[in-house]
Amino acid sequence: MDFTNRFGCRVFGDAVMKERLPEEIYNELKKAGEQGTRLPLEAARVVAQAMKDWAIEQGATHYSHWFQPMNSMTAGKLDSFLDITADGSAVADLSFDALVMSEPDASSFPSGGLRTTFEARGYTAWDPTSPAFVKDDTLYIPTAFCTYTGLAMDEKTPLLRSMQAVSAQALRLMKVMGYDDVTHVEPTVGAEQEYFLVSRENYESRLDLKICGRTLLGAKPSKGQELEDHYCGRIRTKVAEFMKEVDHELWELGVPSKTKHNEAAPSQHELAPIFTSVNIAADNNQLIMETLRTVAKRNGMTCLLHEKPFEGINGSGKHNNYSLSANNGINLLKPGAAPAENDLFLVTMCAFLQAVDQHADLLRMSASCPGNDYRLGGYEAPPAIISVFLGDALTGTLKGVAAGALAHAPNRSTLDTGVSVLPELVKDDSDRNRTSPVAFTGNKFEFRMLGSSQSISLCNVVLNTAVADALQSFTARLEKAADRKAEVHAIVADTMENHGRIIFNGNNYSAEWQEEAKRRGLPILENSVEAYKAMVKPENIELFQRHKVLSAEECTARYEIMVEHYAKVMAIEAKTLLEMVRRQVQPAVIAYAGKIADACNAMAKAAGVSSAAAQDHLRALMEMIDCIAAGLESLDRAVQGAEELNCETRRAEAYCYEVRAAMENLRRCCDTAETVVDCYDWPMPTYTDLLHRI
Ligand code: ADP
Ligand code: MG
Repeated sequence: MDFTNRFGCRVFGDAVMKERLPEEIYNELKKAGEQGTRLPLEAARVVAQAMKDWAIEQGATHYSHWFQPMNSMTAGKLDSFLDITADGSAVADLSFDALVMSEPDASSFPSGGLRTTFEARGYTAWDPTSPAFVKDDTLYIPTAFCTYTGLAMDEKTPLLRSMQAVSAQALRLMKVMGYDDVTHVEPTVGAEQEYFLVSRENYESRLDLKICGRTLLGAKPSKGQELEDHYCGRIRTKVAEFMKEVDHELWELGVPSKTKHNEAAPSQHELAPIFTSVNIAADNNQLIMETLRTVAKRNGMTCLLHEKPFEGINGSGKHNNYSLSANNGINLLKPGAAPAENDLFLVTMCAFLQAVDQHADLLRMSASCPGNDYRLGGYEAPPAIISVFLGDALTGTLKGVAAGALAHAPNRSTLDTGVSVLPELVKDDSDRNRTSPVAFTGNKFEFRMLGSSQSISLCNVVLNTAVADALQSFTARLEKAADRKAEVHAIVADTMENHGRIIFNGNNYSAEWQEEAKRRGLPILENSVEAYKAMVKPENIELFQRHKVLSAEECTARYEIMVEHYAKVMAIEAKTLLEMVRRQVQPAVIAYAGKIADACNAMAKAAGVSSAAAQDHLRALMEMIDCIAAGLESLDRAVQGAEELNCETRRAEAYCYEVRAAMENLRRCCDTAETVVDCYDWPMPTYTDLLHRI
């Protein structure tokens, strides 16, 4: 059977709507999606009816307003379609009101003070630009989630607002460039998702994995990723079956899953979809994460989406590939054969460079979460410094245009493999740079800092808003210019002069880059707590306000949520570690030391003298027991110290510096003990078990 026939079969998408809706209503809905116009009430009524009938045919009994509160997850309560008529018979119904709006109790979601618990009203509003779908007998209706007064309490609302902002400015640019046929420009995103798989049984035996999603303890395994034998290697049968199931499920849900492969670390994998409009890409990424989790569970495994499940082993990220596309098919970031003469490309590229340079702190902030602090800068992911990779060819083109040099198309050379039977390959203009946080990859920018568990919304809110801001200033210049071509060149020259420092084509993992970045004055924000502060810097609040993406109140609320979340996550981790060490590790080491002591005594009794090696072993174990006890005490004190602080920022800082250091310290003692204690006495699966036994 042709698998493409089932693509989107559980989605109330374009084909279903075309078939089931009257033509004029279908057109209204299309217009709403493309031009951001509001759907007339009467049209929404007809859509509700058609959606319900279709969902019931798909086996749905319930519907749910599906939304994304500010915790990187999705939420929604389920209501059945059931209604009872006056004569007592059961009917299925989805009223227009129920489609368009719902009122979940908002008091249990993070709000950052946007609402108080006694005024718990929150509303979800139907987002007609992201299609509804049926999953687990439920019709899921993508929605935005706001307070009683319309303040955003979710990830989607600011994303939609930022899309409006960047679309308007990009459309303006296209008009001034003479593209009269274009009516709509939108940001497009393809988000690659990395993840780990571990066996369910091993996962269940580790409190840290269950509670925190990452290991808090664990000695280095004898084999990690040093042989470089995992990346894109043969996929193990069990994993291949899992991936197949994931693909089929996602395709049915209309998620265009495209690429799958093994990642660099053992048990690490990646899934990449085909890019789409960023709002849908964000919803799809949530579905991808959810599907990975549920299908893994069904197959006796657990999918770990944490940024750093294992110390010393590559962590997982999410690569956010971003571009702008017009409805006539033009990708604004496509250089074409002659980039130096492609004015649309040059201005869009400059807008991106200015956006990233001016708002590097915000972009860094958008990739911050407790888990990512263990990953960024670890020679597996970009460092905590934002820069842009363009490659030498494109950098040369921009410099050339800026200097007024004669534009010339780069000569594309062909690749000689030395084997005549192999096809002749045309080389790309530049090599790849896998170390850059923001890399231009031919016709899009790849933002590689994002953590694997994060929602992609915030980084795209930042990109959209910052690009909109830059486009706005450039477009204003172009609209006034007498000589458009000369103005484009002036824009390139100004951008290279003022923002050229953001371009770095070298190795971002090197120590020299740290020094160089300092010299260039680029912000270096080492951890999430420092990075979150960008959210409430006056100039950043002004940026969001200027483009009607977030109000000052919403920015402050988001900052508070992030800082509070950080402290809470760290508190949970610290407490989990304390519990594991007190109740599992320390008793195991003591019991094992007791066994060795007994053995020493027995040897002395039987042979008249004990083994010196056994006695050394015992003494070493006793030192470890003391070391663990001291580590427990300092961690306890650090946690207490942090908890006593009554300022959220200071508490987060205490967790970030003091508690984290105490956790590291305790972990070192336990990991050393793990390497000497009898494997049959060790109370939990080891790194080797987790990484190599699925
Ligand atoms: P890699 O970075 O692993 O080499 P690819 O080059 O295959 O990956 O593409 C990565 C992602 O970029 C895919 O999800 C792809 O759909 C997406 N992508 C391609 N073109 C665009 C575009 N114009 N806008 C946004 N994303 C895009
Ligand atoms: Mg990539």
